[in-house]
Amino acid sequence: MYRVLKFGGSSVASATQMSRVLDIVAYEAVKGHVVLVSSAISGCTDALLQIAGGDPAPVEELRRRHREIVVRLFTGIERESAQERLDALFEEMLRAPAEEKVTYGELFSTCILAAKLEADGYRTLWLDSRRLIIKGNKGLTYRNIAAAVEGGKADIFVAPGFICGTPEGGVSTLGRGGSDYSAALYAAALQADSLQIWTDVPGIMTANPRQVSRARTIPEMTYEAALQMASHGAKVLYAPTVAPAMEAGIAIEIKNTFHPDGGKTVISGNARPSGTVGIASRENGSMMEICVVGCSRETDALRALTTAGIAPLRFWTEEGNLLLTVRPAVEVPALMALHRTFFETLPVSRVNLFVAGYGAVGKELVRMVEETASAVALRTGKALRVVGIANSRHYSIDLGGNPGTPAKEGDYIDAVCAVAPKGSVFVDCTNSETLYQRYPQLFAAGLNVVSSNRRSFAVPYVTYASLHASARENGTFFRYETTVGAALPILESISRGANSLDEVLSIEAVVSCTLNQILGDYRPGGETFATLVRKAQEAGLTEPDPRLDLGGRDALRKLLILAREAGVRLEEDDVQVVPVIPAALFDVPLDRFYEDLEVFESGFADATRAAESQGFRRRFVASLEKTADGYRAGIGLKNVAPVHPAYHLRGTENAIIVRSAFHPYPLVIQGPGEGAREAASSILNDILR
Ligand code: ADP
Ligand code: ASP
Ligand code: MG
Repeated sequence: MYRVLKFGGSSVASATQMSRVLDIVAYEAVKGHVVLVSSAISGCTDALLQIAGGDPAPVEELRRRHREIVVRLFTGIERESAQERLDALFEEMLRAPAEEKVTYGELFSTCILAAKLEADGYRTLWLDSRRLIIKGNKGLTYRNIAAAVEGGKADIFVAPGFICGTPEGGVSTLGRGGSDYSAALYAAALQADSLQIWTDVPGIMTANPRQVSRARTIPEMTYEAALQMASHGAKVLYAPTVAPAMEAGIAIEIKNTFHPDGGKTVISGNARPSGTVGIASRENGSMMEICVVGCSRETDALRALTTAGIAPLRFWTEEGNLLLTVRPAVEVPALMALHRTFFETLPVSRVNLFVAGYGAVGKELVRMVEETASAVALRTGKALRVVGIANSRHYSIDLGGNPGTPAKEGDYIDAVCAVAPKGSVFVDCTNSETLYQRYPQLFAAGLNVVSSNRRSFAVPYVTYASLHASARENGTFFRYETTVGAALPILESISRGANSLDEVLSIEAVVSCTLNQILGDYRPGGETFATLVRKAQEAGLTEPDPRLDLGGRDALRKLLILAREAGVRLEEDDVQVVPVIPAALFDVPLDRFYEDLEVFESGFADATRAAESQGFRRRFVASLEKTADGYRAGIGLKNVAPVHPAYHLRGTENAIIVRSAFHPYPLVIQGPGEGAREAASSILNDILR
């Protein structure tokens, strides 16, 4: 059982820092053998390169920093012996050939760490990475490490990172930042159960926190994602580190030495592949190359840069990453702009939804909310969550957002009112004739109500007005755009006019999907009217009893809503309804009805022919018109000329034509007026508006 812990330069930069490292190691040593891999103290490798280049200036400062650490970590005889070993290493470094000087930083730091662990009473063994890790020969490296460690009787092994041997017996390095790789090689060779890279940041973050202060830790990522971040410039991990760990199936943990219990990144094969992972940057010639790892949203990236006034010099995609180059002067602003777009979502407020009615529309709504919640949150700042669902018999509530399927018995409305956080939305997708009576209770409990249930509005005007008053008094909203024309923005358009005191002169609403479909398909001599009604019923377009549509009941409900939205106090009895079919057909059982409907065929065909011979089409129109003595409302078949917007309606399309005092030309809204998807999207809009 081996645990490999690697500490970077800043983690061992001073005596205080080293003490932290020793604490972490002591803690881990309880769980198994520890292999401690260390970098040189920060700045040391740079200084050694300078010395190797013939500039002796940094020597004394380097010696002083190491001495200081020794003085502060040791006392008495142990201090003396550590100091002697360090002095000897310094002399050796000064005599060493220039190209070998750089390998001494890790010898200095590990010499101190090993001595201190020994002084603290641990069975400690220093491992000479120059003899164990052989450049370009993984097999030999693994055998060397396994032999040295498994044969060594120690609890803690201390190994210098970065440095290695060459096949020819010389010494070399694994490249700048290479200590991470040393640690991965030790871990893979020993089949370690833990590989920890301790550094000065809490894991791999969405961007370099030194450049983007709002960068945040990525808690888990795949090996591939880590490799992409590392190889595109995220210095926190040396890219070659990934392969040995991945091959051996060892997770890499990246942690912060200064906040051991803070954020960390776990890189493993179990991590869920993420979408956009993070942003990295590195030098590319005289330019800075920025990579948005795991991102293909080119348009968003370009928009972000344009908004920040930055024009990338090049822009391309490669292996599922977005890449661009910018001038060094705009590197940081470019990183910040991209980070804002991809990682800094607006603060979102939660909106809890209690859905009543789990039929086609209710189910579609729940599905749509689940599917679109994150995109909607990004767009609107509102995080929608379905927390309650009910059908006509059972309900289920879970404020955590997993209500499942309705199973509980009892009164849903009472239960909702008892638990709903303020600002929740109750959605009535039922066909209930009476549920509206409970709306005031919901308003009083602070819930908003969105309804697609037209039956709630086939009520006397005073009732309709009192529902609105109740919503207003409680500071909640009451919306039902879906009740007329599904997703078409009809009610909103009408009430906008009414709100600005525009006066409606007339409304023509061709809003019966059933009749629009049937009348559109009907050709005298072709399929009979009865056949088309039956087809519409089979397609689920009609009410369970299609006579509710043919008799104008459904259109009547819609007209009431339209008129009242326009500020007209229309009552049911004010509307003159002329059903499409003779009155006698309403009193017979449903199967008799279809038989009798065939008898009606010839009359209907004649009337259609007569209309067509004059260039008209027949449409089922609900209308409201201002006359000298008040409003007149009617529903029935009407002949419309080619100039009329309803002449060209197809299938279940709806049209509504509103004439008002302010405008010389009518407002015409036309489009799909039917479908669970349309209804659900309309409800969603009512919730978000
Ligand atoms: P160590 O000396 O511990 O090996 P490094 O300096 O090599 O540490 O790597 C850590 C540094 O990497 C951080 O201080 C940070 O500035 C830089 N860095 C660059 N990109 C990222 C990133 N995406 N997440 C975290 N740190 C990053
Ligand atoms: N000390 C080496 C360097 O500065 C290796 C490392 O820190 O990983 O590049
Ligand atoms: Mg590093």
